[in-house]
Amino acid sequence: TSFGFKEVREEEKSKLVGNVFSSVASNYDLMNDVMSAGLHRLWKDRLVSKLNPFPGMKHLDVAGGTDLYLSTGLWMIRKSELVGLCQAHGDIAFRVLGSINSISRGAMQDVVTEGLDDETRIYVCDINPNMLNVGKKRAAERGLGEGRSLLWVEGDAEALSFDDSSMDGYTIAFGIRNVTHIEKVLAEAYRVLKRGGRFLCLELSHVDIPGFKQFYDYYSFSVIPALGELVAGDRQSYQYLVESIRRFPNQETFAGMISNAGFQKVEYENLVGGVVAIHSGLKL
Ligand code: SAM
Repeated sequence: TSFGFKEVREEEKSKLVGNVFSSVASNYDLMNDVMSAGLHRLWKDRLVSKLNPFPGMKHLDVAGGTDLYLSTGLWMIRKSELVGLCQAHGDIAFRVLGSINSISRGAMQDVVTEGLDDETRIYVCDINPNMLNVGKKRAAERGLGEGRSLLWVEGDAEALSFDDSSMDGYTIAFGIRNVTHIEKVLAEAYRVLKRGGRFLCLELSHVDIPGFKQFYDYYSFSVIPALGELVAGDRQSYQYLVESIRRFPNQETFAGMISNAGFQKVEYENLVGGVVAIHSGLKL
């Protein structure tokens, strides 16, 4: 039997590609969670504070899961104490719901249960079905398991199953960089939002501050791949990760794409000098 590339059957090939994708995708988590030294928590808090969640809200968080459990390269980390740090399933949705619950609690001091407001619906949508179960488990651990407010939906950001004009808010955190067609994702976000609905995107972006840029480049191109090799035994995936950040449109270009999708009042905020950016737009 030859193991030459030409001999690899179609199904094996797609399995190989799948493994590579899973491995790469899981490294996004490492970048977001471990290498941001926990800063991603503050960035997500900021994203949700810009959303201004309210009781009765219909909200869609896209790419709300992580591929950590499919990882081939990160089993060591999964086994270690770091596992808690790496789980980002439902991160944004939990914050949105927490914010709504705290408003509701303020309004009705005796009632403290999740789902207080029957109308609130927070949908977490991810293309990877494995994240749904993990997300549900995390929700249950947080006492959010039985509520009707939090719903887990398998789906592709490029072709959402939600109705036109059905959402008050749309978030995508560390998700849009991985998709095949950014324009399709933006068009779908626009379609599912109601008039007045807000689009918010948190993504690794571009640093353009003299001095800091040189430091960040060194960190990205030298430290991250070396850490990847050391921690996960996977230098290549980390290099790919860094390159994917470079390939992603810069803040101004991405803002232009959001405008082209139909959004108005498009703006962005750089965090840590542009290491990440939060883009925002309104469907008016
Ligand atoms: N939003 C979480 C966070 O902020 O930590 C996790 C983001 S994780 C790095 C990227 C997620 O995007 C993965 O769970 C992956 O399955 C999902 N994803 C990739 N392509 C997608 C698509 N076309 N539609 C929906 N989800 C997608």
